[in-house]
Amino acid sequence: MPQLRKDLTSRTWVVIASERGKRPHDFKVVPDQKKGEGNCPFCPGHEGETPPEVLALGRGEITPDIPGWKVRIVPNKFPALSQESVEPSFRDGPLVQRPGIGVHEVLVESPDHNSTFGTHSQEQMEQILGAMISRIKQLRADSRLEYVQLFKNVGRTAGASLEHTHCQLIATPIVPPVVDEELRCAHFYYEQYHSCVWCDLLTKAHENGLVVEASPHFAVICPFASRVPYQMLILPTRHGGEFESISQNELADLAAVLRRTVRKLEVAFNSPPYNLQWHISPLHEPGDYDRYFHWHLELLPRLTIAAGFELGSGIYINPTAPELAAQELREVKIDATTGI
Ligand SMILES: [Zn+2]
Ligand SMILES: [Zn+2]
Ligand SMILES: [Zn+2]
Repeated sequence: MPQLRKDLTSRTWVVIASERGKRPHDFKVVPDQKKGEGNCPFCPGHEGETPPEVLALGRGEITPDIPGWKVRIVPNKFPALSQESVEPSFRDGPLVQRPGIGVHEVLVESPDHNSTFGTHSQEQMEQILGAMISRIKQLRADSRLEYVQLFKNVGRTAGASLEHTHCQLIATPIVPPVVDEELRCAHFYYEQYHSCVWCDLLTKAHENGLVVEASPHFAVICPFASRVPYQMLILPTRHGGEFESISQNELADLAAVLRRTVRKLEVAFNSPPYNLQWHISPLHEPGDYDRYFHWHLELLPRLTIAAGFELGSGIYINPTAPELAAQELREVKIDATTGI
């Protein structure tokens, strides 16, 4: 029978339509036709086609914007927000407009056009996470910025416009509403139960068969109120708000967990489109949110399409119970060839 479940971190509700029990083979994923390396601006040798890099790892040279890099961060050619925005503030009664100050950058994960989070080497994945952390630390110095949203879109239906493996980073002058809502929910939960909502969700996930993998420093779970089939939450087992404060051991473990988790998706669903997003603490928010905010990654496979009911009501209908999803994902055999 269908159940309504409340997501404690967003106050949204989901309908778990478990009688549908959709398993991996019920989702027909048609992989995008790849155009290949050809004229890709992110491939080595094409560095001049992107704006000048802001960070590059792995290249021994001092000269920027030449091949030899392992990971490269460049400004987005068509930024959603810009550090140079000079649009004046404007107010007309209730209407508010502020300058679109911010940063929009692309992290090119690898010189290899076709590699993925599921096939990068362990060393490559660690460099990617290291580059993200360096950039977040640099952006904290800009007092105009309040938040750094790291995310990754894979596949056209998930919003990726370039196929070369990459992540994006958008720093905003406000705390985005989704994160603000998570902070409020977590604060409310803390006041009520005197503990962190994510720490408690992890304990409950262990009790209820929702854990896909538990590594030394991280856990991958299918959230109790998963909005979409095979949604996953990657949580550090050590409570904390700052992604960039992880130790070298934790970083290496996260790299391995991410590689295995994405590889499982690729194997089970024939490389489906997905969105991966980081939720980390705001850059300058005063207060004691570190007591109740717990940074995490949300992985949302795009196997179903949100339609009128979801968009109109904010209630999601999920045809795969997260308990079933976790069980299926635990059983996915990932190939040994990637060394995972
Ligand atoms: Zn490329
Ligand atoms: Zn916690
Ligand atoms: Zn979140």
